[in-house]
Amino acid sequence: MAAGSMLALAACSGGAGGGGGEGGGDGGLIGVAMPTKSSERWIQDGDSVKEQLEEQGFKVDLQYAEDDIPTQVSQVENMITKGAEALIIAAIDGTTLSEVLQTAADAEIPVISYDRLIRDSENVDYYASFDNFVVGQQQAWSVLNGLGLTELDGTPIEGAPEGPFNIELFAGSLDDNNAFFFFDGAMNELQPLIDDGTLVVKSGQTDIEQVATLRWDGETAQSRMEDILTANYSDGSQVDAVLSPYDGISRGIISALEGAGYSTGEEWPIISGQDAELDSVKAINAGEQYATIFKDTRELATVAVDMATALLEGEEPEVNNTEDYDNGVKVVPSYLLDPVIVVKDNITEVLVDSGYWTEEEING
Ligand code: BGC
Repeated sequence: MAAGSMLALAACSGGAGGGGGEGGGDGGLIGVAMPTKSSERWIQDGDSVKEQLEEQGFKVDLQYAEDDIPTQVSQVENMITKGAEALIIAAIDGTTLSEVLQTAADAEIPVISYDRLIRDSENVDYYASFDNFVVGQQQAWSVLNGLGLTELDGTPIEGAPEGPFNIELFAGSLDDNNAFFFFDGAMNELQPLIDDGTLVVKSGQTDIEQVATLRWDGETAQSRMEDILTANYSDGSQVDAVLSPYDGISRGIISALEGAGYSTGEEWPIISGQDAELDSVKAINAGEQYATIFKDTRELATVAVDMATALLEGEEPEVNNTEDYDNGVKVVPSYLLDPVIVVKDNITEVLVDSGYWTEEEING
């Protein structure tokens, strides 16, 4: 709903004067820094932001840094040198941009932190993202739903099986502020069930530092899962569920399970995810992954583009959260969109009907 109103807003401001140059564009340059092309979602984000900025009459310098921090820093420096009027940045490591953002601030270039909060800098003007704590809750609820314990919104199911169920936990990259929000949201739901014995973490690894995955890397997750299986499940016991924060990590976990002799069907664990990446949507259809969290990158792009446009027109961007995203120096005013759980049953409704993926892409 919130997204809808932002989209409507964008449509209005784009339509009023008709055509390029409208909406504050005037051919000015906007720098857009994305972390990596190795994950599909950032390609979708970059494409959507670029397209929507160009519709508003801006020129766009869109750069990907292949998850290399110095590369991203120098890309942003270059954008400033080229005369960018605003910067939209999805950081690789949220703490490494302070110096270059000071340069931006000195040149009075507004900065929008895209999806991931940029930390330790006062020179971050606005934050466009999803409700990341809710993403984590949804990841937990999807796991609990797969185990037959709750509905997808977390409501307990009466007469649910008592368990105990063996679960293993994964988190994202510790240099990404989102990783903490996702894990905190998930543990908010899972911890009480670990405490009452419904869920058992046989590896004993429940702290974010123990379960984190540097750079969200699928292979890193795969080898951690392999180690966990060897060390804790060689006695014939089974993993029933895996909390995974991102589809690429889920695919690594799936490979480890297959390598250890698990096959899909009754005994196959319930695995969560995030981003509705195409391969993982296929994996959901195939029963390998139970769920993913869909965050519509087109809507996020609209929020960020609206923020940039408003700032350049001397207006105040619309926000809906001024409390939760403290970057260590200040609370960054934020606009948070609503994430959506996708399971096999609603793939068509959520992903195909919205035009995010086509039926052919998913089934082809
Ligand atoms: C994003 C997720 C993504 C992850 C890995 C996070 O900051 O919010 O959507 O799965 O990075 O790219």
